[in-house]
Amino acid sequence: MTKAATTDLLAALGRRTSDATAPASATPGQASTAGTPATPASAIGAFNVITLESAEAIAAGAETAGRPVIMQISENCVRYHGTLAPIARATLTIAAAASVPIAVHLDHATDLALVDEALELGFDSVMYDGAHLPYAENCATTAEVVRRAHRQGIGVEAELGEIGGKDGAHAPGVRTDPAEAVDFAAATSVDALAVAVGSSHAMLERTSRLDLDLIIRLAAAVPVPLVLHGSSGVPDGELERAIGAGMAKINVSTHLGSVFTGAVRETLAADPRLVDPRRYLAPGREAFAAEVARLLELFAEAPAPDPLAKPAHEA
Ligand SMILES: [Zn+2]
Repeated sequence: MTKAATTDLLAALGRRTSDATAPASATPGQASTAGTPATPASAIGAFNVITLESAEAIAAGAETAGRPVIMQISENCVRYHGTLAPIARATLTIAAAASVPIAVHLDHATDLALVDEALELGFDSVMYDGAHLPYAENCATTAEVVRRAHRQGIGVEAELGEIGGKDGAHAPGVRTDPAEAVDFAAATSVDALAVAVGSSHAMLERTSRLDLDLIIRLAAAVPVPLVLHGSSGVPDGELERAIGAGMAKINVSTHLGSVFTGAVRETLAADPRLVDPRRYLAPGREAFAAEVARLLELFAEAPAPDPLAKPAHEA
């Protein structure tokens, strides 16, 4: 049984976190159990589950890397399946059976009923996404989600400063204001905060440039771990720099979908007579798992943030 609390996995990164999320006993590597390295990772990967194969691939990749991982199910994924419970129960079962710590997280929920259902099903954390709401309303609704989740000891991620890209609506100019982020974290008691620093959801090319100076300022000011969304569009080197600047949880979905589909497409193209879905899903799952392992290593071994780092204009 190695299902893990998301807040424990984030606390194990050894970053500065709020008192609520980082008990005094939380030492780096504490959340690690079987087969995980004692050295703390610089950041943790959070990858989206869409099908049973993707959950299997994320667990297999994490086991290959010997690293903890977060599996996340988005509200969009629930819409695709029409219901949360079947894919959630499968994912929770796979997480519990893995040899490395795995947390299961609800990603981008805007529906409070879905949050409640995830809490009932035994998720390890939930993200409430109120970034589209006016600030005061985002604050109030997020605080309500935090109240419900914390009653069950479950952590909450929220978003401030809308990270665009879904439905084709790129919003590259949006940035999270550090002062507002500090205020928001205090007003809501969230356990992790997704911030807008230049990435955009659903990008097919890995060409994003991030506002690293803003990440340093946010990490210095905000007392909870920062989450990077839209990482699919960010190249490896820029992800390493973002982690070095202070990002703790790195969400990747579209890029892994592209790796999976690429392998499926290649397999189907090579044999027009192939009909057994297992014959093309297996190579997709294998490619997905290999990329998960590679990304977890990259995130874990990226240079850790320098606690004395100052934004460029203050250096
Ligand atoms: Zn996202």
